[in-house]
Amino acid sequence: MRIAVGGFQHESHSFAPTPTGWDEFLHPGGWPALQRPPGLLAALRNTSTPIAGAIAAAGAMGFTLAPLTWCLANPGGPVTAEAFERISSLLLSDLQDALAAGPLDGIFLDLHGAMLAEGFPDAEGELLRRVRAVAGPATPLVASLDPHCNLTAAMVERADALSPFRTYPHVDMKPAGARALRLLVERARRGRPFARAFRQLDFLLPITAQCTLVPPMAEAMAERDRIALRHGVAELGLCFGFPYADFPDCGAAIACYAVDEPSAVAAAEEMLRWLRTHEAEFRSDILPAGEGVAEAIRLSAKATRPVILADTQDNPGGGGHGDTTGLLAELVRQGARGAVLATINDAASAAACRAAGEGASLSLRLGGRSDGRPLDVTAKVLRVSDGRFTCTGPMAAGNPADLGDSALISANGVKVIVNSRKMQAYDQAILRHLGVEPAREKILALKSSVHFRADFGPIAEKVLVVAAPGPVVADPATLPFRHLRPGLRLRPGAG
Ligand SMILES: [Zn+2]
Repeated sequence: MRIAVGGFQHESHSFAPTPTGWDEFLHPGGWPALQRPPGLLAALRNTSTPIAGAIAAAGAMGFTLAPLTWCLANPGGPVTAEAFERISSLLLSDLQDALAAGPLDGIFLDLHGAMLAEGFPDAEGELLRRVRAVAGPATPLVASLDPHCNLTAAMVERADALSPFRTYPHVDMKPAGARALRLLVERARRGRPFARAFRQLDFLLPITAQCTLVPPMAEAMAERDRIALRHGVAELGLCFGFPYADFPDCGAAIACYAVDEPSAVAAAEEMLRWLRTHEAEFRSDILPAGEGVAEAIRLSAKATRPVILADTQDNPGGGGHGDTTGLLAELVRQGARGAVLATINDAASAAACRAAGEGASLSLRLGGRSDGRPLDVTAKVLRVSDGRFTCTGPMAAGNPADLGDSALISANGVKVIVNSRKMQAYDQAILRHLGVEPAREKILALKSSVHFRADFGPIAEKVLVVAAPGPVVADPATLPFRHLRPGLRLRPGAG
């Protein structure tokens, strides 16, 4: 078989402080940068990405690959029209080239599924329409998705199958890509499309209640396995939704693929029923930042392992700018000792620290560019770096990070990592590359909602999820939505 592989990933937050432009896809911080054929296969093969899993699975089956464009940018505001058109054009012209070189048995795409582009609120639906227009209606087309996707009827209609990861933290990106590739092969070999069913849930699931390591989502995924097996379906995709997208299809949804429609519908309906029955359990427990810091200081006095404070509302992996200082200000105000915060995304401060050099002291107006609330600190520069390292944790092992000028500083007694590009704190390498051994610290303050649990969970004494200022709000009901579908409840249990 000859299969085209490409991708275009973005998770868009309607109310994030900055739009996502072309440059964000060229310099995506902790992720591989934009790739074109012919370098794509070599550049991505050893990364923790869905396309790497698809490449490996296709290789194991002895298939020929036709690489297209692949790219990803950190979550942020909607993708600019310029970036969307530019990347779509690259991907489509690569597809035309691949078709000109010979027939394709299938197309695999590595998509996120929650992209909003200027002019196209259902950006993946539009991208799939364009891919179909080039490849024709009969070419098998399957995409892997991030479960934080906001699935739409147009996406389900235009792709032969869509298959989300099963975990959050996303420790199965590679296996999910491999599974989607096998689904593509199954579709190609059967010679006709699967029957399918699409259902949307009528309430939003808060991000912090979507973690698959603990109930209720751990139970939802186990139930998903049982339902899929019972009905013998080819794929039962449970998508948790990204509850910050102001468009009608925001929220959790299910896409099911089977040999016949009754099986697909029955499995999708059962999954939907389970979620509705357990609605009240999908709440999130968040502490105000002040209370969280006080509790962390109290616990860490006796603990042998670090207490983690998750700064969920400024999570750069959810669209935060990674530069709000609310949690840092609390750590300073309460005199926390042995605390490290990862990270403040502030290129000007990082460059000033690197220029001053290790051992220097300087005054910084730190962070707060995105919300106008910086923190004035006297900083001692402990260590500087070029921000380049390779991730090592269970979620991102092998992924190259390039955060630009970076520094470890001591700011009024609290250690802070400052860097020039945003990255969610989900990998211990973010601290280690500046000489901090996370397990030896008393308090780790991490800008992350859930992903940190994969690498930091095993070394933690206790995890406290806290609410400091930031756009990735724990309760989406507080956002000024205007375009959601009627009847969608903004939080579990809401009227
Ligand atoms: Zn995700």
